[in-house]
Amino acid sequence: MLLLFWGGIVQSQTDIPTDYFSNPLDIDLVLAGNFGEMRANHFHSGLDLKTQQKEGLPVYAPADGYVSRIQVQHYGYGKALYILHPNGYTTVYGHLRSYAGEIEKYVKDTQYKKETFELELFPDKTLLPVKKGDIIAYSGNTGGSGGPHLHFEIRDSSQRPMNPLLFGLEIPDTKTPIISALFAYPISEDAQINQSQNRTKLRLTKQKDGSYKSESLTAFGKIGFGITTYDQQNGASNKNGSYKIKTTYNGTEKFEVLFNKFSFSETRYLNRYTDYNYYETNKSMVQKLFREKNNPLSIITKEDENGFVTVADSLNSIYTIEVDDFKGNSILVSIPIDGKNLEILDPKKEEKTDDYIYADHATSITKGKFSIYISANSLYEDTYLNIEAKGDTLKFHEDVIPIHTNISITADISAYNEADKDKLYIGRLNYRGVPYYNSTTRNGDKLTGKTRTFGDYTVAADTTPPKIKSVNFSEGKWISNQNFLEVKITDDLSGISSYRATINGKFILMEYDYKKNVLTYNFNDNVNLESENNLKLIVIDNVGNSATFETKFFRKQP
Ligand SMILES: [Zn+2]
Repeated sequence: MLLLFWGGIVQSQTDIPTDYFSNPLDIDLVLAGNFGEMRANHFHSGLDLKTQQKEGLPVYAPADGYVSRIQVQHYGYGKALYILHPNGYTTVYGHLRSYAGEIEKYVKDTQYKKETFELELFPDKTLLPVKKGDIIAYSGNTGGSGGPHLHFEIRDSSQRPMNPLLFGLEIPDTKTPIISALFAYPISEDAQINQSQNRTKLRLTKQKDGSYKSESLTAFGKIGFGITTYDQQNGASNKNGSYKIKTTYNGTEKFEVLFNKFSFSETRYLNRYTDYNYYETNKSMVQKLFREKNNPLSIITKEDENGFVTVADSLNSIYTIEVDDFKGNSILVSIPIDGKNLEILDPKKEEKTDDYIYADHATSITKGKFSIYISANSLYEDTYLNIEAKGDTLKFHEDVIPIHTNISITADISAYNEADKDKLYIGRLNYRGVPYYNSTTRNGDKLTGKTRTFGDYTVAADTTPPKIKSVNFSEGKWISNQNFLEVKITDDLSGISSYRATINGKFILMEYDYKKNVLTYNFNDNVNLESENNLKLIVIDNVGNSATFETKFFRKQP
């Protein structure tokens, strides 16, 4: 039975078709980001394909199939398209400027019918079939995209994102992965590294053969290692992720991480796998080459003692780390370890407080007007939290510990004027003390916000409605030659929640670009206009303050 099981796995790996999907762009593939690379709170689930710093490149169906899903969002993937192929794989395209042909028409028609910009559709297989090479969309920069590119994914039949390079897409890469830092972590109570019980950075020296050697260290007890590493491909300077990391201890394999596929339900465990504290303080991701409890990540493909090593007194040993990219370019680090149980000079840093949280218990805490509810397994490990309430502000530890599932913070607002209560929200104070809106609900005199970030929270009031300003037209003017209407919308505190625009009382589709704070109407949408047109736009913020903008413009009739 065991043999059959392993046979099955090998079989499914070799079943990945390597000549089925073609390049979805008609330019050479250059990566701005690769599969599995580490981003805030998630592993990147596809390839970010460069589009020559511009938008509007045609995107081609890489194989036959049909449009199985369309999603338009202000944030996230922006305008996204999903194609299901007859072999069971789905390809995904994100941050599109627009869809093409019949797909665009179908989306627009539905947006007008439902009177909404954001939507999610699941067309059946007869509605929008595509043939390999059809233009399906145009690349863009919509949603949470930091510059024009195409986000491209391949998902298996269980909607798990897979490394698209496994499918034979060609990305030239002759560059060796870079290792930028190496750390050792004491794990057991009696463990130490260079007489310290804390994370210890180790110096690396490049050897003649190109490999790295760390300074030799003294250690004792159960310890683990972590690295910061990145890889680059030819033709771009972007720092992308590596493909495989393998470690050994005295020649025995210890641990392997492989970026072939994962599932979306596990992606947030990135915060468990990486050193969250180090990332929040240094903005650099350390991959911990061991599995701690509450880490179910499937990218860990081999492990002995969860990747930890136990160093005995008076014994010399050697630990190695090998980092590979997809093309097999490889770099090796060797770390000589001198087993010594020495006097501790740098004891474990841990601030003890009144609030010790057991990760596997649900916990309720009350401080001043605030009550906090932490569900079981919201945190990965037991910890002391530093929590203090001062009037309307709650100091809720610091953003150096990861939170896996939402923690709720409830504030008692009975002391506020009845009229003001509707304008309150729970805000998270940024470094300048501005209360950023945190999704908030009100139930009588209780205001509840949910969060996955430690930090300072406050009960904030937003009494100012959004601001609305025309960008490319002005009141009472003829604008017959313009293709677009652009309006700027902003809100100073709680942020934009919704908007609705009409011309002469009829709904018009305005697309919202939150990065530019701009709403755009496209005259090609062919809403029937008159010579004299009245535009009305209502914008509502997250606590319900509403602003109405009305103006008139003229357009020559055809
Ligand atoms: Zn992407």
